Amino acid sequence: MDRCSFCGREKRDTNLLIAGISGHICDSCIEQAHSILQEELKKNSEFDVNQIKLSIPEEIKNFLDQYVIGQDYAKKYIAVAVYNHYKRLVHFKSQDKNDVEIEKSNIVLVGETGTGKTLLARTIAKMLHVPFTIVDATVLTEAGYVGEDIESILTRLLQVADYNVEAAEKGIVFIDEIDKIARKSDNPSITRDVSGEGVQQGLLKLLEGSVVNVPPQGGRKHPDQKMIPVNTKNILFICGGAFDGIEKKIGQRLNTKTVGYTAVKESEKVDRSNLLQYISPPDLKAFGLIPEIVGRLPVLAYLNPLDEKTLRDILTEPKNAIIKQYELLFEMDGIKLSFDSKVLDYIVERSIEFKLGARGLRSICEAIMIDAMFEMPSQEAKEIHIDLEYAKEKFEKTDIKRLRAA
Ligand code: ADP
Repeated sequence: MDRCSFCGREKRDTNLLIAGISGHICDSCIEQAHSILQEELKKNSEFDVNQIKLSIPEEIKNFLDQYVIGQDYAKKYIAVAVYNHYKRLVHFKSQDKNDVEIEKSNIVLVGETGTGKTLLARTIAKMLHVPFTIVDATVLTEAGYVGEDIESILTRLLQVADYNVEAAEKGIVFIDEIDKIARKSDNPSITRDVSGEGVQQGLLKLLEGSVVNVPPQGGRKHPDQKMIPVNTKNILFICGGAFDGIEKKIGQRLNTKTVGYTAVKESEKVDRSNLLQYISPPDLKAFGLIPEIVGRLPVLAYLNPLDEKTLRDILTEPKNAIIKQYELLFEMDGIKLSFDSKVLDYIVERSIEFKLGARGLRSICEAIMIDAMFEMPSQEAKEIHIDLEYAKEKFEKTDIKRLRAA
């Protein structure tokens, strides 16, 4: 009677039993062995800092260009910051005591919502193959009361790293909506604003690098839970926020600075239509971030609002552009999908009209394409061309409120 040499199961109890020179293996042992192999490979190679290919800034930017349209200024800053961050890691490993210590280059990205902040962070992580997670700073606002503890930021990172602490310690955390934990008033003595400042103080510990006890399952700490110590020294934090109204602070600063004999010359140069390009750390302080936090986010970059041309490019240019995704979906059914270029213009115009931004492009496309996606697979036709008339008809049937919610 043939048996699996690993689990001892008889041939009739298996789906498949493969014979080797002096033994057998059954299908379930193959599967189990395969998953062990995957685990080991992941542990040993994927997150090994030596395996992180240190790309030079120009290569990093080229990679970002494949996925993110425009935002050259932010890309350049991120590319340099990431390059330095991982150089620092390599240096850190071989460092002797007397060496110069390279400081951490945590990043803060300022720009309207939907301009690509998260996408930039996500793309960087994709390039580096390091654990990456996005956390929303707003859930932390009430920490100490009913929200989540600051440490839970790292729980998610541990989870995506399959609890491989060493890997998580070299990961990237994107903290979204950092502006929401700003102090509500510029003057700390006027209001007791625990939610904002308290969270910032907690966050400071993570940003500057320290050993933090992380609850493995997240949520609130409780006494029986076994904590996992994680050192944040080499975790790269990228913070993003819209900082609504910060232009006013920038404007005020520029105005006060231009008093004096250079006033006329300088104010001539200021482009009032896009004040964000002049953002500098004092503006973040004026907005309500505590100076220590601002100091721990030394790389400050802004993102431009998306204009019509950028939105149009976002539809078709990125490696995984929305239009390319639809074409692929139809191709998988053997159907050739094409769009009239007027349709693409129409999608962009509607997105601007309803202030839906880049996120709206997808929901508008979805509204136009849903019927075709439903009907085409059961039809004979092997080609479909979306023209303006068709697009208009489908879009006008859609409830704008639903698009807004998307
Ligand atoms: P933010 O984090 O700034 O609010 P996201 O990065 O989440 O915005 O952008 C939302 C979506 O819009 C992205 O998933 C992407 O599809 C699209 N998008 C936004 N900006 C760009 C851009 N510059 N290039 C390509 N796609 C973009």
